[in-house]
Amino acid sequence: MAEKTLQLEVVTPEQTVVSEAVDIVMAPGYFGEFGALPNHIPFLAQLQPGEVKYRIGGQLEYLAVSGGYAEVLPTKVTILATTAEHAKDIDLERARAARERAEQRLKERQEEMDFLRAEAALQRAIARIRAAERAKL
Ligand code: ATP
Repeated sequence: MAEKTLQLEVVTPEQTVVSEAVDIVMAPGYFGEFGALPNHIPFLAQLQPGEVKYRIGGQLEYLAVSGGYAEVLPTKVTILATTAEHAKDIDLERARAARERAEQRLKERQEEMDFLRAEAALQRAIARIRAAERAKL
């Protein structure tokens, strides 16, 4: 029989952030956002910094992730993320301060390596700000 829910596991090197049966998962793939419903064909995707959204019943939940990998199987989605925070756990002021620091570094345009690091920090901060602000709506 076709499954009606998916087991979602969101894991970071520090902890398991989500382990729940959900109706649908949306994730920020490297080539664009994708959705996974129960019984999806298996695939692997690289993730970019952004929001992971999932629905349980009528409730939409938001997480900020800073990149990683997703394994989609018919009954299970596993997200291995460098960092992941539930929207409600995000410190908005910290994320705004991180965004400002990164923007400042990008303006200063130092060496290539600093540029890439600052760009990555900016993307992480933007993902956190978006997820935290969305959860407030
Ligand atoms: P910062 O410069 O503020 O430390 P960062 O992007 O360098 O930001 P990370 O290295 O991505 O931070 O994350 C380090 C740890 O702090 C991770 O456990 C991450 O989940 C957590 N974290 C980072 N920013 C926030 C935030 N704004 N709110 C809550 N937790 C955060």
